[in-house]
Amino acid sequence: MTLQIYDTMAREKRPFVPTDPSRVTMYVCGPTVYNHVHIGNARPVVVFDTLFRLLRLLYGEAAVIYARNITDVDDKINAAAAAEGVEISVITQRFTAYYEEQMAALGALTPTFQPRATAHIAEMLLQITALVDRGHAYAADGHVLFDTAAYAAYGKLSGRDLDDMIAGARVEVAPYKKNPADFVLWKPSKPGEPVWESPYGPGRPGWHIECSAMIEAVLGLPIDIHGGGIDLVFPHHENELAQGVCAHGGGEYARYWMHNGFLDFSGEKMSKSLGNVVRPHDLLDSGIPGEVLRWALLSAHYRQPLDWTESLLRQSKETLDGLYQVLRDAAALVDGETLAPDADAEGHLAHFKAALEDDLNTPGAMRELSALGRGLRSAVAAGNRPATLEWRANLLFAGELIGLLQTEPVAWFEGAAGEEMKVRVEALLAERLAARNSKDFATADRIRAELDALGVVVMDGPTGATWRMKD
Ligand code: AMP
Ligand code: ZN
Repeated sequence: MTLQIYDTMAREKRPFVPTDPSRVTMYVCGPTVYNHVHIGNARPVVVFDTLFRLLRLLYGEAAVIYARNITDVDDKINAAAAAEGVEISVITQRFTAYYEEQMAALGALTPTFQPRATAHIAEMLLQITALVDRGHAYAADGHVLFDTAAYAAYGKLSGRDLDDMIAGARVEVAPYKKNPADFVLWKPSKPGEPVWESPYGPGRPGWHIECSAMIEAVLGLPIDIHGGGIDLVFPHHENELAQGVCAHGGGEYARYWMHNGFLDFSGEKMSKSLGNVVRPHDLLDSGIPGEVLRWALLSAHYRQPLDWTESLLRQSKETLDGLYQVLRDAAALVDGETLAPDADAEGHLAHFKAALEDDLNTPGAMRELSALGRGLRSAVAAGNRPATLEWRANLLFAGELIGLLQTEPVAWFEGAAGEEMKVRVEALLAERLAARNSKDFATADRIRAELDALGVVVMDGPTGATWRMKD
């Protein structure tokens, strides 16, 4: 099966054919770093990370070039810096670091490039000048605006025409615009805001030109895949596309456009402006493993809405616990032996890959992951070592491809305990071992009862004791 991708532009699934299979490129719009991100912002990260992993399998690790940007110039950043009385860079660096740490905890691989807008102002100005020179943009009142009337295909990605946009009042009307739909490429900075020199006067870039310039700077045109949340189709991606095409007098910009659906919370899109946010920062801090969040984020197809609930988290945790339990039991049976996965195996692993290749059908793939877990359970229950090795290798291979089951099973169960508890349990286990070695079984039993009271299940095995928290 070849990879099929639903292309927002074509409004249908298309077989994925990159421009150059030895250099497959993907760009995903990242966050504006003025605050902690919410779990909705993590949805595109985890979805496109899964695609990144799949592309690396299909084309080879070195052949896939993935850029995920950081927007580090924005009104909200200025406001956050002013509120704290610090430099803008203090805010952007702090929240970029948090973002990278949290996305890594969700199993997202580090993208090939993580360009920051402020490092590419020169390229933005070059693109703006190209647009002005080609008659696609005009300077007015310290601003430079894209002239939507001078680009016939404007609106093609989002399926809107200019009248719709104006009627829908989704565009800002301003006296210096020729047309209400014209959008800002460059604008004057207000006092106290970051400012750069330009042929159009001192100022700062508009949001859309940032991504067009970063794409050209780090990937080159055309790119194969452009991704982001569905809210970015209009105006952000429509405008990026218009700029990218017109700055070069035509040609391709992105060959496939992919958009994830919204993550909803209590019936509405999760968003900072609505205030209904749950943050990975708090969820991870409360001890929920990153893989549980990742499982929950991938549990619905990426184009469908995903409702974020307590029960979704609970189910995700239970399913992962089940898979880790099987892996732990399998590890005890095979005692350190491993087997290379058979990547071309028929059966559940093949179905798992086929599901991912079908426009990233993660719910289908996760059903196959669970089926691989059941196969492994049967092999372990039958005490069948060769079958256990094979099922385990295939389960772990599938897990890695989707960014799950990346923890040692023992650490998974111990990790649920929190640091303080871990130290305490390890100390009690050491005491218990010492007591046993000196045949002081009364003390050993007392310690075991103490661990039980702490909610710890101890499992004695051939290589020593392991433990986990009771469910
Ligand atoms: P922002 O910082 O709002 O520009 O968002 C960064 C990324 O997160 C973009 O790709 C958005 O489309 C995406 N995003 C924001 N809110 C949600 C949500 N509730 N569900 C899914 N994706 C979202
Ligand atoms: Zn963007």
